[in-house]
Amino acid sequence: MFKEGRVDLTFHPSTEQAVSHGHTSTPETTDLVPRLKTPHLSSFKNISPLLHLTTTSLHLTFNLSTSSLTSTLPLVTMPSMPSKSSHPHSPTGISILIVGAGFAGLTTAIECHRHGHFVRIYESFPTLKSLGDIISFGANGGRIFARWSEGAIAAKLRSLSIDLTGYGFRIHKYDTGEVVYHQPTPLQNPEAPVFNGHRGELHQVVFEYARDELGIEINLGRRVEGYFEDGDKAGIVLGDGERATADIVIGADGVRSKARQLVLGFEDKPKSSGYAVWRAWFPNTDMIADPRTSEFCSNGDTFNGWIGPDVHFLFSTIKNGSDCCWVLTHRDEHGTDESWSFPGKLEDVYKVLEGWDPICKAIVEKTPSLVDWKLVYRDPLPTWVSKHARILLVGDSAHPFLPTSAQGATQAMEDGVTIAVCLRRAGKEGVQAAVRTYQEIRYDRVRAVQKTGETTRDRWHKTDWEKVAKDPTSIAFPREDWIHQHDAQKHAEEVFDEIFKRFTGPEKDKNEPLLPREEPVAVA
Ligand SMILES: Cc1cc2nc3c(=O)[nH]c(=O)nc-3n(C[C@H](O)[C@H](O)[C@H](O)COP(=O)(O)OP(=O)(O)OC[C@H]3O[C@@H](n4cnc5c(N)ncnc54)[C@H](O)[C@@H]3O)c2cc1C
Repeated sequence: MFKEGRVDLTFHPSTEQAVSHGHTSTPETTDLVPRLKTPHLSSFKNISPLLHLTTTSLHLTFNLSTSSLTSTLPLVTMPSMPSKSSHPHSPTGISILIVGAGFAGLTTAIECHRHGHFVRIYESFPTLKSLGDIISFGANGGRIFARWSEGAIAAKLRSLSIDLTGYGFRIHKYDTGEVVYHQPTPLQNPEAPVFNGHRGELHQVVFEYARDELGIEINLGRRVEGYFEDGDKAGIVLGDGERATADIVIGADGVRSKARQLVLGFEDKPKSSGYAVWRAWFPNTDMIADPRTSEFCSNGDTFNGWIGPDVHFLFSTIKNGSDCCWVLTHRDEHGTDESWSFPGKLEDVYKVLEGWDPICKAIVEKTPSLVDWKLVYRDPLPTWVSKHARILLVGDSAHPFLPTSAQGATQAMEDGVTIAVCLRRAGKEGVQAAVRTYQEIRYDRVRAVQKTGETTRDRWHKTDWEKVAKDPTSIAFPREDWIHQHDAQKHAEEVFDEIFKRFTGPEKDKNEPLLPREEPVAVA
């Protein structure tokens, strides 16, 4: 009954369990997913040389018609299921250095690991710290999380994230406080869930998955100071002068990227957007004690927004109402030479809230400390890829987002998935064309999603209240299918061949990106 095929096994040291995923050459056997449990990893060593054994993964290639093997390993017939193991593809031999362990760097590392590449991360932070406040992942990011560790990572993120199933999003007019639109929250799709939670808490889950479960090497306290490449390899220079090389280097070093400057020669020249955000995260103790605000923390999670002239105030309660978070976007006339993020003053917030629904001040006055975060514009980069196409940018270093897009972290994740697929499909010999293909797949989509940050902000800050009275949905937070229903992995697999061949044909100048040069448009 078994024909020629391949089985990839991932060994989980914590459970001493090997999970396998079958790939066979004949359709009648594709729904046979062999699954085996093993009490001791060492019991497999005598299968060598058919077995490639690392500390975390076993990759086994064998002929499924081997009767001795089927009698030794309890192969069972399972229903057809997508490959969900942490390492569903065989090793490609492609080595990658990633600079930065934010969501872009970690997702890129995890996805590259899943697609069979060998990755190492270098991060300047010496320890993992719970930094930041609220961060959003749309369904297009949730779809990526849902594929990790057979849904276990998504389950962990769920317990830390806001649950608005019953409450929805209540949008108020800033002065009267009336709810002008009650936007329902769509039911969670388990294959593409939405997550909103504390950046530090969600980041810790992803970080620990990469480091502890997948065994990805993450070097903390290692600031990257330089980059180099030639036609055959790329590398980094660390603060102490140590050098590391690989087939490619991925710069995931955030909004103030050094890679962007060193590799592509673009200086970080932020321009004032005219806006800034005050933001805060704090426990619910004082909110519960005040009868004016206790309702937000007593019956589960809540999400409310107050929309005013050139200002909007968003307030949410999270983890069954135990944590509170608000973000207030307002006009800001200060220059960009000042620090982009520094402590804010409550007195300044109160001035902006004069004449507003008094509940807004009742919430804000419970805040122990807040951050003042400048929203600056940056010109979009004409390319994210170095001259020899062995160094590339992902996430904020390539394309920062305005918070009103609620897509910055999710687009960073889509980058990671896309480069992982491109590298696997291209193979080690096609690495440079894969890097150029990655950019071509991602560039226009990212630009289009970036622009939604401005359109949503303008929709709220220049509200036509007569129009809202006639059509309350006109003030809703947009959840467009072309953004949220996107499956980055499926898309990359589908378009890869067509785009890749443009960079591999003999007639092409392979150093020339195919992208049109755009005029500068605003990003965060
Ligand atoms: C401390 C912090 C707090 C944040 N808080 C929020 C928030 O509350 N809400 C929100 O929506 N977004 C927040 N963001 C931004 C958000 O995480 C990103 O917009 C989004 O997730 C895309 O992530 P990224 O990985 O591209 O960039 P980042 O998340 O910025 O990650 C970049 C990483 O690269 C590292 N790095 C930078 N330079 C070097 C170097 N030379 N060598 C080695 N490592 C380097 C940084 O230490 C950082 O860990 C925060 C980012 C940071 C770093």
